[in-house]
Parts: sequence; C-alpha cells; structure tokens
Amino acid sequence: MKFVDLKAQHDELQPELNLAISRVIEDSSFIRGPDVVEFETRFAKAIGVKHCISCGNGTDALYIAQKALGAGPGDEVITPSHTWISTSETITQTGATPIFVDTEPRYFTLCPNDLVRKITPRTKGVIVVHLYGLPANMTEIRNICDAQGLWLIEDCAQAHFAEFEGQTVGTFGDLGTFSFYPGKNLGAMGDAGAVVTNRDDLSEFVTSFARHGGKGNHTIEGICSRMDGIQAAVLNLKLTHIDRWTEARIAAAERYDLLFEDMDNVETPEVRPGCRHVFHLYVIRIDHRDALKAYLAEHGIPTGIHYTRALPFYDAYKYLKHQPNDFPVSEKDAMRILSLPLHPHITEDEQAHVVDTIKGYFARA
Ligand SMILES: *Cc1c(COP(=O)(O)O)cnc(C)c1O
Repeated sequence: MKFVDLKAQHDELQPELNLAISRVIEDSSFIRGPDVVEFETRFAKAIGVKHCISCGNGTDALYIAQKALGAGPGDEVITPSHTWISTSETITQTGATPIFVDTEPRYFTLCPNDLVRKITPRTKGVIVVHLYGLPANMTEIRNICDAQGLWLIEDCAQAHFAEFEGQTVGTFGDLGTFSFYPGKNLGAMGDAGAVVTNRDDLSEFVTSFARHGGKGNHTIEGICSRMDGIQAAVLNLKLTHIDRWTEARIAAAERYDLLFEDMDNVETPEVRPGCRHVFHLYVIRIDHRDALKAYLAEHGIPTGIHYTRALPFYDAYKYLKHQPNDFPVSEKDAMRILSLPLHPHITEDEQAHVVDTIKGYFARA
C-alpha cells in the first residue's frame, strides 16, 4: 500500500503525458514558453481570478507575495503555529518577524480569536494556510484584516479548488499562493508554483520581481523564479482531470468517516460547514499516536505526521523563546495527529484494510 500513489496517476495519463513532454522537447521551450502561458491562463480561469503568475515553487510564491505587499525589517507578519515551515521561513527572508497564532481546536486552521490578541502596531499582514485541504475561517479573518488595515495572503499549497461558502480559495486574500510539488493535489513532475491575484498592480510587481525585476530595464532587483515548460505541459494535462481526482479524494474521505463511525478512540477530521474540503491529507487524532503508527508500519501501512511539532518549537525558532502552552491547541495536536493513506486511486479494499488494522490495534491494546 502507498501513502500517495503518483505512479497510478501517471499510468492513467499515458500516452498523453509522453506526447505533451515530447512536444516541449521538440519546441525546446524549456523555461516559460507556450505551455506556461497556457497554464497561467487556464489556472486563473479555473480558480476564478484575474491573474496567475507562475514561479519556481510554492515557497518562492510566498516570498514573492510578501515582497509585493512590502513586508520588510521592523514589520510583523502573522502565520499559524501548525503548518509547514514555508510561511514563517519566507517571513524571515523578507526581514520581517514571524508572529505565530494558535489554531482552532476543531479544524487545524488559524484561530481568529488568537489572531486578534497577537496584532500590534507593527503588524502588517496575515498569511493564512488552508491546511490539509480545509479552508480557514475566511469571513472572520478577512473582516479582522480589513478592520485593522492588514494585508492578507492565502497559502493554498494544500487546497487546490477548495471552497469557502462557494468561493474558491486563493480569491479571498490580496494574493493567493500555490505549490505544484509532485505530491500536492495538482502536482507537476518537479518543482513548480504560482501566485494569483485580482489586483493589476500586484500582478505587475510579481511578474517583474520573479523575473529579475523586468527585461530590458531592470526597474528593481528581483529574484529568478520560473516555471519549466515540461512542468507546465504536465500541469495542463492534469488540469483536465483535477475535478475527478478531487471528487475521488472527497469520496475516499467520506468512506474513511463511515468506516470509523463506531470507533470512539479515533477522531476523524471535521469539515467546516459551508466548505469544500479537498483532502490533501486525511488526518485523524488519537491518543498514544506513536504506538499506533509503529503498529501500522509493522503491518505494511504507511502513515505520516504533518507535522511533528508546533512550528514555533522547532530549533529554528528557539530564539523567539516560546514557552510550553503558548500554543495549547497546536502543541496537543502535534502529539495526536496521524495522516492516513489517501489519494485519488486508493481502493475501498485498501481503506477497509487500514481501518481493520487500526481496529486490530485497539482490540489488542
Ligand atoms: C508544500 C507546501 C508549501 C511549499 O511548497 P513548495 O512548492 O514545496 O515550495 C508551502 N506551504 C504549505 C502548507 C505546503 O504544504
């Protein structure tokens, strides 16, 4: 059994995949080129946003988005205490200071109440993360940002085509960022990313900044962050299948929910009312997580922990001197979360086997 089965996905796309890649080799359009332009146009349309600017990866997208909004030394930028390090890492890269906010007890996403408590006169903006594929509380967070004059970036790396009250994520903030890392819901065959926005001024800055500050005249110093033609060709092909794959993820998550229904010792992931959760990951909460994880590994079932600590407690953030209980919800979650195998090609039998093995573990204990 596989945790994520990219081979099954790619087998399904043959021989179109080989054709698409061969075409790029034939054209020698390796960096940008027609496939990249096509992808930017189609992705913007699919998300329902005016501009999509491709770049090298999802982490670059976060850095570029913050530079577009002017983050720099002396500023504070807020981000959740439970997520992948890309948000806080890029806040630091701009010269700003990352300020961590605890997550909501039910949903793993940024807690609006703790957000209000962490705002200071130096706060410039907020980066929300739609973690595991579930949108954060965009109504409350957008209202807080508007009332306080803060900019808002959405990290959509795990949430392609997730929806909050019928609106696609990436369209609530000043800017949205995406990763197309191979294992993401929409994945390339290498690194790739994008920034999306409805604002013409930000689109212009992002385009220029990601490409050395412009061609002909370098109006500013930028960085070099581009999408490869081959990645765009793969993504264009996958875009025609993404709806079906997303529905398959949702169906697989519902199947797990049903299989776990009679088990009190397993907390299944909750879906915020009014949201389309796209299940990049299916994350359960259980006590004595490490023992169960080891038992599943012994029985050939791969699982993951996303992530092993609340972000402020990794060594990189020792200098912030956070104390235990500064982030009670995410600290507790970090000890109890377990990501189960889930991808569009997982079978009912495989899911039943995962749940039966977990039942076997509890029956034994
Ligand atoms: C994957 C991921 C990123 C970074 O994307 P890369 O393309 O790997 O740089 C950022 N944020 C979150 C939440 C992610 O899951």
